[in-house]
Amino acid sequence: MKKKHKSPWGVFAAIVLAIAFGSIVGESGKIWNIPFYSLLDTAGTLFLNALTLVVVPLVSSSIIAGIARIGNDGGFGRIGGKTFFFYLSTSLLAILIGLFFVDLIGPGTGHIIGHNLESGDYVANLKQSMANREGKGLSNVLLSIVPSNVLLAFSQGNMLGLIFFSILFGYSISKIQSSHANVLQSFFQGVFETMIQLTHLIMKLLPYGVFCLVAKVFMTTGVHSLAPVALFTLTVILGLSTFMFIGLPLMLQLIGQIKPAWLFKAMGPALITAFSTSSSSATLPITIDCVEKRAGVSNRICSLVIPLGTSINMSGSALYECVAAMFIAQAYGLELSFTNQFLIVFLSLITSIGVAGIPSASLVAILIILRFMGLPAEGVGLFVAVDRLLDMCRTTVNVFSDSCCAVLVAKAEGEKNVLVKDPVEMVE
Ligand code: ASP
Repeated sequence: MKKKHKSPWGVFAAIVLAIAFGSIVGESGKIWNIPFYSLLDTAGTLFLNALTLVVVPLVSSSIIAGIARIGNDGGFGRIGGKTFFFYLSTSLLAILIGLFFVDLIGPGTGHIIGHNLESGDYVANLKQSMANREGKGLSNVLLSIVPSNVLLAFSQGNMLGLIFFSILFGYSISKIQSSHANVLQSFFQGVFETMIQLTHLIMKLLPYGVFCLVAKVFMTTGVHSLAPVALFTLTVILGLSTFMFIGLPLMLQLIGQIKPAWLFKAMGPALITAFSTSSSSATLPITIDCVEKRAGVSNRICSLVIPLGTSINMSGSALYECVAAMFIAQAYGLELSFTNQFLIVFLSLITSIGVAGIPSASLVAILIILRFMGLPAEGVGLFVAVDRLLDMCRTTVNVFSDSCCAVLVAKAEGEKNVLVKDPVEMVE
């Protein structure tokens, strides 16, 4: 097999150029009377659509082929158990790191309420979306796990329903007569490999897609918007960095004897896509590709761990929720007793599980926490201007955390090909 050394610099250059271009040109810049913003918006949306297009066939075929194999060797419950344990414990660790920094720095302490409060349409819309969600209630989330119409679930991109159906389908394949099972297994493995090839094609457009998406964000959210909430931004970024560059690497090294730098290298394309799209769901095809082809995790494990992680493991978002809720509580002068802090930690953990892998999904979860704590929803207006920038960072952490779980579970299952060499050499 011929080795090709792909350089990540093109994508990094795209990010730097996009930040400079977006900040200089701004929202009103035009070319031949056409706003740059709408040009980039259209091109960026095309790239996002192309990624999202692959999600349903890729995830379903990946799970079906993977579970059909696990079903045969009976490891499903064990792998599922390890995955849940890892996801809950890393999210808790992330939240506690966030709590540590928000207590230490106190970004909301002494904040004058009412100052810089954008309590207009944005918060009203958020409240509306929360009301819609609440109307459906928790029971509807549970009901979406078992859809009554699988085609509808697929067409609506109902991830939990899709995962559930695919797991059952794959498991059932492992229980039927082997002559039929082999045909189905080979068919779904074929669909999966084809979708990975399609993902590779889309990834050729990565630098251009990244440029459009990042430039668009910086056209509307200039770096200057960070100034009024600089301490809050700093707290979130410190927390996310500590978790991603110290917490998770320590786990990788101590539990799995894995070189963290190699996993960062292997996950490069997925991390950059997560950063520019702010959507772990749209990044999913690239995450699966990196975990399997570059980090060397088998399809058997990746197919279960990664789609599940994209739906329920939002460590970066959980940390963000905790810091945001504490920030608002500090700003509104809520007494930050042990009980209140414990409540915020607990609520961040629970609500992060339900956060969707789409941009700004955490804001709704934060509103739910505020309601529980008896704080006004308008508090979100304190930092809404920087939410998108911080979303880029927390989505990157969400995706990296999923990949850590995949390699650790693979190691725990005795897999021998996990990051055995520098991933640069593993690129086909
Ligand atoms: N954008 C995040 C994700 O897709 C979710 C959030 O925190 O808003 O992972």
